[in-house]
Amino acid sequence: MTEAWGTLKSFAGKTFETLDPEFTDRVSQLIGGQDLTACFQCAKCSAGCPVSDKVNVQIHEVMRMLVLGLPEVLDTDMIWLCTTCYTCQERCPQGIDITDILFGLKNMAFQRNKAPQGYVSSRQQLYDTGKLYQPTDWEREDLGLEEVPHLELDETKKMFEKTGLLKLEEDD
Ligand code: SF4
Ligand code: SF4
Repeated sequence: MTEAWGTLKSFAGKTFETLDPEFTDRVSQLIGGQDLTACFQCAKCSAGCPVSDKVNVQIHEVMRMLVLGLPEVLDTDMIWLCTTCYTCQERCPQGIDITDILFGLKNMAFQRNKAPQGYVSSRQQLYDTGKLYQPTDWEREDLGLEEVPHLELDETKKMFEKTGLLKLEEDD
């Protein structure tokens, strides 16, 4: 089990003070208004999830938190460790668009300044340099590769503008 992500490590001893139906509704709107209460906690989603044994809070528990209107769901590691493989979504007998919810929860977490620092700095680096990783000359030389070709940053910046990635925090 990882300790690296999210602040909600366990439900043990945790008291949730706010049950916010508006939060549930907002998440439901992310997937076209699907009724999240259709989830009957069969845990088929978690049973097929490849990161189930890596997270503190499993995907069926995330779904429970959403039905209860617990914004603390944005502090769970599940939303960041999800590989977006869509297995849960395909397995759900209630047809809930679980993976699509997770995309939306990532955005919400980003807007509330809850994204892991690595994501935030990677976004900035991609915007500034067009690369997520800057290889050194000797690394490329060792591999017999030529210098990294020049990148047109305008193209990367256009991508940021189109996806709205850079102004994500402003859209909450
Ligand atoms: S598979 Fe669907 S119904 Fe079952 S726990 Fe997961 S979200 Fe709920
Ligand atoms: S999409 Fe994410 S939550 Fe769903 S099964 Fe795959 S890794 Fe697990």
